[in-house]
Amino acid sequence: MSETLNPFETAQAQFDRVAEMLGLEPGVRELLRWPMREFHFTIPVRMDDGTMRVFRGFRIQHNDLRGPAKGGIRFHPQETADTVRALATWMTWKCALVDIPLGGGKGGVVCDPRRLSPREQEQLCRGWVRQVFKNVGPQLDVPAPDVMTNAQHMLWMLDEYETLAGGHYPGFITGKPIGMGGSLGRREATGYGVMYCVREALKRRGRGVNGLTASFQGFGNVAQYAARWFTRNGGTVLCVSCWDGRENTAYAYRKADGVDPEFLASITDPYGAIDRDRAREAGYEVLPGEAWIRQPVDLLVPCALEHQIHAGNVGEISDRVFLIAEGANGPTTPDADRVLQERGIAVIPDFLCNAGGVTCSYFEQVQANMNFYWEREEVLQRLDGFMTRAFHAMADLAEQRRVFSRDAAYMIAVDRVAQAARLRGRV
Ligand code: GLU
Repeated sequence: MSETLNPFETAQAQFDRVAEMLGLEPGVRELLRWPMREFHFTIPVRMDDGTMRVFRGFRIQHNDLRGPAKGGIRFHPQETADTVRALATWMTWKCALVDIPLGGGKGGVVCDPRRLSPREQEQLCRGWVRQVFKNVGPQLDVPAPDVMTNAQHMLWMLDEYETLAGGHYPGFITGKPIGMGGSLGRREATGYGVMYCVREALKRRGRGVNGLTASFQGFGNVAQYAARWFTRNGGTVLCVSCWDGRENTAYAYRKADGVDPEFLASITDPYGAIDRDRAREAGYEVLPGEAWIRQPVDLLVPCALEHQIHAGNVGEISDRVFLIAEGANGPTTPDADRVLQERGIAVIPDFLCNAGGVTCSYFEQVQANMNFYWEREEVLQRLDGFMTRAFHAMADLAEQRRVFSRDAAYMIAVDRVAQAARLRGRV
């Protein structure tokens, strides 16, 4: 396969294409193509067996022209600087597209949290904060959870930050536990946001979710809540695939009359691996992980990692699929994107589709600053408003200019950030 599989090259290729379409001036183009600041560091951790292990950590701030950098921290054994660069870049576009006053950043640690004890994980979280303490904070850069990090990790990080800063700064980090500065609705926000976009996309075609079928990749926080919303609203999820970290293999779980997301969630470990034996006992077919993409369904929902739909497997997508909702960040490569366009398969692009998480993080900061917390219904209603507005802005532009949805989303987001650069006199 000649296709490049470096996520940062993908992010830059997507940007270059839109910079050309927008006719961006060279200065702005160069400014927005690169992360503005990067921190690469080591984190020594005393392990439970007494040995010292050194982990590699990153925080990359792509852009803060519209507000403090914002974005999650991933714990993943295959983390690389280029992956974090790409993810930080996508955060800039995501925040601009949903029009929240934040920029883009991302963090990571090369580690496998499934193989670390809770105490070792706590040390890693505290070590990460100690290494970037001076360069993050409520006014600078605000982290959040992402792949394999959770509310407990965020609270350890907050505690370390507040210990070093000597005060309470709940706006330093989002995705905290409820009752400890977290927002109601944050857990389900990304998955529900994916489905608010799907609902609006269907509305524009004059139909609803009722009677539609879907196949999901991944069964972590995003997929679990998206699948619940989809089935509650009359859709049927036929297949869900997930990565089993203990075996380093992916499996797909299929049920002809539809999977039960509540049941599957009840037999899923905190890292999204489903208990195979219990699924089989409950009548699920267990297939190789790639099976998720071949299902004859209406809707595909990739909610795992980047580059999962690529030149090598895009041809396996069934003719029945008419919509792909990208719950993950960067799940589709540029080559696969071209094939989807040619085949007329609609795509709700990642940085719109999964923006519910960061939008709710923004609400969490707002609530933390007021020290007054909203009811869950209020949070979800506001979230729905932001997602729906952003979706239609993208869909209207795509129609008017006759461009692909991803390009339309990029045009809106890049234009907003470019405008911020001009207004500030940076270019
Ligand atoms: N990690 C999530 C994302 O990729 C959420 C980021 C945040 O809440 O800041 O959008």
